[in-house]
Amino acid sequence: MRSRVPKATRSDAIDRALTAFDDGSFASLLAGLVAIPSNSQEPEAAPALRRYLEEGLRPWLARLGFTVAVHDNPLPDFGPILTALRIEDPSLPTVLLYGHGDTVRGLEDQWRTGLGPWHVTTEDGRWYGRGTADNKGQHALNLAALEAVLETRGGRLGANVKLVVETAEERGSRGLREFVGLHRALLAADALIASDGPRVEPGVPTIATGTRGTFHFTLAVRLRAGGVHSGHWGGLTADPAIILAHALSAIMDRDGKILVRGWLPAGGVPDAVKTVLAGCPVGGGDGAASIDEGWGEPGLSAAEKIYGWNSFIVLAMLSGRPENPVNAVAPDAVAQCQIRYTVDTDIAVFELALRAHLDAIGLAMVRIEDAGLRMAASRTAPDHPWVRWAQASLETSLGKRVQVIPNSSGGLPGDVFVDHLGVPLVWVPHSYNGCKQHGPDEHLLIATAREGIAGFAGLWWDLGAGATPVRGAA
Ligand SMILES: [Zn+2]
Repeated sequence: MRSRVPKATRSDAIDRALTAFDDGSFASLLAGLVAIPSNSQEPEAAPALRRYLEEGLRPWLARLGFTVAVHDNPLPDFGPILTALRIEDPSLPTVLLYGHGDTVRGLEDQWRTGLGPWHVTTEDGRWYGRGTADNKGQHALNLAALEAVLETRGGRLGANVKLVVETAEERGSRGLREFVGLHRALLAADALIASDGPRVEPGVPTIATGTRGTFHFTLAVRLRAGGVHSGHWGGLTADPAIILAHALSAIMDRDGKILVRGWLPAGGVPDAVKTVLAGCPVGGGDGAASIDEGWGEPGLSAAEKIYGWNSFIVLAMLSGRPENPVNAVAPDAVAQCQIRYTVDTDIAVFELALRAHLDAIGLAMVRIEDAGLRMAASRTAPDHPWVRWAQASLETSLGKRVQVIPNSSGGLPGDVFVDHLGVPLVWVPHSYNGCKQHGPDEHLLIATAREGIAGFAGLWWDLGAGATPVRGAA
């Protein structure tokens, strides 16, 4: 007589994932990944990028049944790209998972005493270390959740998973577009479900269905070959810093409202975006920054300002030598500027509208240099069937409402996957705005990560349990 083995359930899978989280297994796995100093911003760290893929991820993925390959970046001097395929049956639903194994530079000397970039320190409910939030911790949570579901289901998922991990994200994902274009068939999927960036608030599970894009330019006033004596020439000759300041104040008013109106979504915030953002909280910066009520576009809510609108930021500006001023009228003044924009704006207008705006107020001498796109904006309809499916799954697993936002406030290379693979974008971030990614003291909140692994265990379970959106549904 055969003994009856009780059938494993969805909550068994979530419990298994949470056990691996609570018993320290996940933390030690994360520590191993963080210990590989895979910073893509310093050329001497390049070998660590490949090591992250080959030693950090490959053995783990092979154990989970993936067929793994590490490819050279199609562009010279940019880091390699890992693909991993786990195909059970091509007719089953297929999810594409994405992550990046590179980090920004370590900034070793700037971390608080006791902390450092290349080791994980646990303190006050946080895991500190470079990449804990951006992005090693996030893709590791998703894979650890998959591992728990596979163990619960006896090695069979009931769906296919494909994974792309790049190592040039912190350099603008250079080469990823070319790579995905070359491997369309290999990477074809029904949906991209992946994690990066922050939730709207630490305690609010979030789905972002796209990202804002980034457009950069330099504003420059270049008047002469070198500085001239401030006594003999000050008051007679034009001061580039003052002209630059006027140009900036013509772009944005004292209260953060963009005055180049051609830069903005022509019809205002679209109704569908307003609808999903109604009641959406914004916050959790944890002291990193304040939300200044009077700053930005009048009449918009904080969520609309950051998810449904464009913003203009001066990244850096310089005239003369602040560290060693001399008595001179400086030869030039420059500001490095950025626009963060949503898909509701045509990027072709940015340079043209600014040129016309400056010329109209007599600032023709202000030059716009090196203007161009860095990362394109992307957006899947917030009510897309795959978004609704993921939202329902997460709400079941976590027992709370999931906030959908039309795009994350930051940038990610989602456009590459939309353009080449036509997949809907379902970003499920596991971090928060105060995580200090890109600076010293980067960290992941343990409670948020714990919800992340539970949520993904539920997603993987549901993916293999049928009832996913019909292939090609939109
Ligand atoms: Zn980053």
